[in-house]
Amino acid sequence: MRARFVAGNWKMNGSLRANMGLLDALKAGLKKSENLEYAVCAPFPYLGQVSAALSGSAIAWGAQNISEHDAGAYTGEVSGAMLKEFGCRFAIVGHSERRALYGEDDARVAAKFIAAKHAGLTPILCVGETLEQRERGETDSVVGRQLDAVVAAAGAAALAGAVLAYEPVWAIGTGRNATPQQAQEVHVFARARLAARDKALAGLTILYGGSVKPGNAKDLFAMPDIDGGLIGGASLVAEDFIAICAAARR
Ligand code: PEP
Repeated sequence: MRARFVAGNWKMNGSLRANMGLLDALKAGLKKSENLEYAVCAPFPYLGQVSAALSGSAIAWGAQNISEHDAGAYTGEVSGAMLKEFGCRFAIVGHSERRALYGEDDARVAAKFIAAKHAGLTPILCVGETLEQRERGETDSVVGRQLDAVVAAAGAAALAGAVLAYEPVWAIGTGRNATPQQAQEVHVFARARLAARDKALAGLTILYGGSVKPGNAKDLFAMPDIDGGLIGGASLVAEDFIAICAAARR
């Protein structure tokens, strides 16, 4: 059975006080569960707080971004080695907000994926199409291109053990989720695309992300190729995130 996983992406939200309340509630609500993992991806300044608060709990943590460089004159950047040094497990790479707002193209996303792997972190690689691309019937070609760029740069074997997140751009933060069938179709496509390069990648954990809420999580996670979720807004509300995690339990 493929591993199931729910990760929260806090984006640029939080404060020491608010985080503490959220983390306490998550620790109380999320216990170790067979074949289901949870993580929260917090802004850089809060990673120390998150690491300390979650130590010994069932909840892992990750970063929302990572530099493609190891070290040097890259003001404002954070390397994989720095993250790893104090216990980070995951790094989101290729989130659509970074692609759209910070000009991260496929080549840079691939370089960040490689940097995460080199540091011993698990990349959560995000792919997904815009509404215009979907309406033009380009979903598969866009997602295929995004995946191929990482495979070409990192090699197919490097994807083993990584996490893929299908996040249609039109569903992120909009309140409009992909239907379970729409998401399932893209997950099947992505899984087949990767498995054609390396058979082992048929077992990759593939998350759906985009306006997942307690009310729609169960139907999305019931689809055979949806292995969990990458959760933005709802991950800031403890009871919603806990309910979404419960919906991912098999
Ligand atoms: C995200 O930021 O990855 C995301 C899926 O956001 P939301 O759940 O708010 O749509």
